[in-house]
Amino acid sequence: MTTCKTGAEHIKSLKDGRTVYIDGKLVADVTEHPAFRNSVKSAAMLYDFQARPENIELMTFKPEGSNRRVNRAWQMPHNHAEMVQRRKALQAWAEQSFGFLGRSPDHLASALVGQRMGIEVFEKHGKDRARALAGYFDEASRNDYFLTYVIINPQAERGKDWGEQSEDLVARIVDEDSGGITIRGAKMLGTSSIMANEVLVANLQPLKPGEEALAFSCALPMNAKGLRVLSRKSYEAHAVSVFDNPISSRFDENDALMYFDDVKVPWERVFVHRDTDMCRAQFHDTPGHAYQNYQAQIRLSVKIKFLVGLAHKITEAIGTTAMPPIREQLGFLAANVSMVQAMMAGMEIEGGMRGEYWVPNRHIMYSAQVLTQDLYPRVIHTLRDLAGGALIMLPSSILDYQDSDLKRIIGLTQRSARMSPEDKVKFLKAAWDAVGSEFGSRHTQYEMFYAGARFVTAGHSYRTFDWDGATKMVDHLMAGYDLTDELSRMPH
Ligand SMILES: Cc1cc2nc3c(=O)[nH]c(=O)nc-3n(C[C@H](O)[C@H](O)[C@H](O)COP(=O)(O)OP(=O)(O)OC[C@H]3O[C@@H](n4cnc5c(N)ncnc54)[C@H](O)[C@@H]3O)c2cc1C
Repeated sequence: MTTCKTGAEHIKSLKDGRTVYIDGKLVADVTEHPAFRNSVKSAAMLYDFQARPENIELMTFKPEGSNRRVNRAWQMPHNHAEMVQRRKALQAWAEQSFGFLGRSPDHLASALVGQRMGIEVFEKHGKDRARALAGYFDEASRNDYFLTYVIINPQAERGKDWGEQSEDLVARIVDEDSGGITIRGAKMLGTSSIMANEVLVANLQPLKPGEEALAFSCALPMNAKGLRVLSRKSYEAHAVSVFDNPISSRFDENDALMYFDDVKVPWERVFVHRDTDMCRAQFHDTPGHAYQNYQAQIRLSVKIKFLVGLAHKITEAIGTTAMPPIREQLGFLAANVSMVQAMMAGMEIEGGMRGEYWVPNRHIMYSAQVLTQDLYPRVIHTLRDLAGGALIMLPSSILDYQDSDLKRIIGLTQRSARMSPEDKVKFLKAAWDAVGSEFGSRHTQYEMFYAGARFVTAGHSYRTFDWDGATKMVDHLMAGYDLTDELSRMPH
């Protein structure tokens, strides 16, 4: 056995008979299918990256009592320095996909690390459920599982409560016995599920008393009997070549509806059982939500830096870099990168102890969420603004280069002071893939919504802010004067 999980091992683990559908057909093997195989290879590349001798210390650690190293995402930091050490591993992974793999395995590892840190919350809910969560954490971390999650319900009628939606829509407990629970219904939107080993099913959206059948959380292998995965359109399958679509051809992590067709879950994998408030507590009373979204901001800091790199190169490609208004735009973009990085560092340094563990500062994390879900589309808009038609005036595909006359015309028309015509086309195709392609557009939707709509993230920010400190300052100002005193000073 090698020192830690490798790409080959991960690919092998995905050949498990899971039920994935795309374009009306059942997929025989996600690792071979043209809609998924390159993304699967990218996931495998992450494990190969961590297994390289020069990266093993940066990327992995040995859990207590285990003789195999696993990704540092599973590490539970005891202080600020350990949190930073862990973050460097997460950052290095994000750099491998330029931040485009939103649900790389460290996202769910972070969620579970936070939930495991708050095990007493599960203990209050029930000893058996806490034992299940702790046991699952050990299993998942020691095997360095790639997990995804589905914690959101299909929208249906947003004006109604979840319990009021049609019976067969939202995943719910339809039966239970001494062996476990049986669930039926749907959850959205299992990003990376086609290349994950397991899925955490939970409920992040508020539930009310009376909605207990919906109030559960559990983990399932992706090949669980009755688990049906309905993939969205594959951008990878529509990528013409790596030259034409260098990002979408490799990092289309996929999103999918999950339908639970009477899936049986054994009790040792049930973490929340028929408790509406515990569904909230699983994320918010433990550091689970803070840790999973701290990971998301680490990844985003890499992606925003990459996008700003694209912006600079766009101006080089079309020769506008030195123009003062363009410099201003680039300077503004650069400031945004540093803001995201500074907020990440702030979450770490302003974190605090929870029991024996160091946890990120929640309010800074929620502030980062609110600000970056707005920031991302603005950055994309700025890139489009900087580029003009350059992102569009491009050969239809590399096949144009097979015709020598077309190749000559492309060479004549794709001139740039800083790049060869071929490099200009190569670069601008990469920029369009990131910014304007269907894949790029999905990324804007992702960054705007993965953590919840604005009213949700702003609600978290509201809830966790130091209002007392802020309003006390206002009170302090007002305590220094009053109407009677001021009137007495007025000339009569
Ligand atoms: C690309 C992508 C990948 C995703 N991956 C995953 C995943 O892996 N796992 C997972 O569990 N989920 C995933 N999601 C789902 C994501 O968490 C949700 O999209 C997000 O929480 C928002 O919920 P919603 O889609 O139901 O939107 P809604 O909450 O319905 O919001 C849609 C719009 O309606 C408005 N709105 C709705 N209700 C209200 C209200 N009460 N008050 C005010 N405004 C309201 C919102 O402001 C917003 O403008 C993913 C989403 C996307 C787009």
